[in-house]
Amino acid sequence: ESGGWFDLNEAIRSALRIARIETTRRAIVQADLLDGLEVRGSPGPVSQVFVNLLVNAAQALEGWTGSRKEIRVTSRREEGRAVIEVSDTGPGIPPELLPRLFQPFFTTKGATGTGLGLSISRNIVRRFGGDIEVSSIPGDGTVFTVSLPTRSLAE
Ligand code: ADP
Ligand code: MG
Repeated sequence: ESGGWFDLNEAIRSALRIARIETTRRAIVQADLLDGLEVRGSPGPVSQVFVNLLVNAAQALEGWTGSRKEIRVTSRREEGRAVIEVSDTGPGIPPELLPRLFQPFFTTKGATGTGLGLSISRNIVRRFGGDIEVSSIPGDGTVFTVSLPTRSLAE
């Protein structure tokens, strides 16, 4: 699917605004975004991906007793791709659960979770030629890494 080129940071900033009440209630939120990253697709769905990741991070920090409660969003350029990390200093994810995370309806939130956020998010970024991955250290935190093809600066 094509769609036009758009400024990735606008989609990320929009997500930060939408998720703001959820995130700032539970964490210090930091954004360190590289300017000039243009990606192809539809800004709405891409923004929704970051809302999903930010709300998950906020929910992971709910009730977490660790000393640092931070959510961080960073973006950078890497070999023709925009790479965005959404990280939190929450409880992390047990390694045995990682392979199931992106499966539809997988949730550890009981009746309050749909288990659809990550599966939908992965579908969205794959539709635009990108991908989403997770790494986590239990007790330390979680990093979701989104990558999307980006237009080179010269184009
Ligand atoms: P839901 O949020 O409705 O449970 P998601 O697809 O968004 O569904 O997430 C699936 C599961 O992945 C969550 O229930 C949770 O167990 C785990 N998860 C996602 N993000 C995080 C995170 N930042 N820290 C810890 N666990 C997470
Ligand atoms: Mg979710």
